[in-house]
Amino acid sequence: MHQRSNRVDLHIHSTASDGVFTPSEIVHQALGRELAVIALTDHDTLGGVAEAQRAAASTNLEVITGVEVNAEGDWGDLHFLGYYVDPENGLLRERLQAMRDARVGRARKMVERLREMGMGLEWEEVRTLASGDSVGRPHVARALLNRGHVATMQEAFDRFIGNDGPAYVPRLRLTPSEVIEAIIGAGGVPVLAHPGHYWAALERLPKFVEYGLRGVEVYYPDHSPEEIKVLLGLCQKYDLLFTGGSDFHGPAVREGAPLGSVYVPMECVERLREAAGFRTRIAGQ
Ligand code: AMP
Ligand code: ZN
Ligand code: FE
Ligand code: FE
Repeated sequence: MHQRSNRVDLHIHSTASDGVFTPSEIVHQALGRELAVIALTDHDTLGGVAEAQRAAASTNLEVITGVEVNAEGDWGDLHFLGYYVDPENGLLRERLQAMRDARVGRARKMVERLREMGMGLEWEEVRTLASGDSVGRPHVARALLNRGHVATMQEAFDRFIGNDGPAYVPRLRLTPSEVIEAIIGAGGVPVLAHPGHYWAALERLPKFVEYGLRGVEVYYPDHSPEEIKVLLGLCQKYDLLFTGGSDFHGPAVREGAPLGSVYVPMECVERLREAAGFRTRIAGQ
């Protein structure tokens, strides 16, 4: 029965980073599924948002400006979502640009390692597959697949470029406080993404709140009903808002779930808007 109430999806990747569909295609699919609100949250780039907002302009679909940024904390890799950020903000632009530049250097290094391991592969092939401005491991995996070095993208991760793989090279990562600061500085609302991926990191939640964290992504494909309950409890304890989304990347991509397939209450959007200062802005006009 939840199916009918799925009108919101606040975690979606497009071709601006490592998703399969263009921002316009995502908007058309969201309209087809009768979604009311989506957020585009590409890795380290806001490059797809304007196109999605143009595609949704004469429809009832709201496209929230969003971004997903990685951070390296003392608990390892953490992802933060930033909603309603100002894409023109200097500090945010600078930090995202640094992340994207580092992604290029790092992907080139992975190609070098794969070549040393005897695989024919050119950097240009990976670059071409990354049609947006944020290059990621899925592009390397697809290049290996195109060359016939692996039979599936998953095999590329399992054998070569997964976190423990022989050709894996880590990315530049900002600290959690740097990421939160940049999102807040750009007028956005910082949210901890998919805590189910790093459950232990929740011990640091009070620290993140101190830095300015405003929410936690509670509704997510692999969060169980029990986990959702625990996370909602934490949100209440620390006065945080809760969000949710599918982390849709496209069909046949292991991460995430189909567009609009995760139950996300509309209340999430209302509280996000409030946190972004929407009420005051409108009242002050
Ligand atoms: P990157 O941001 O370049 O490190 O790439 C991360 C992306 O690669 C994730 O968003 C996933 O889509 C994908 N990914 C990472 N690890 C795996 C894995 N073990 N199996 C399949 N996909 C993975
Ligand atoms: Zn991704
Ligand atoms: Fe993520
Ligand atoms: Fe994501």
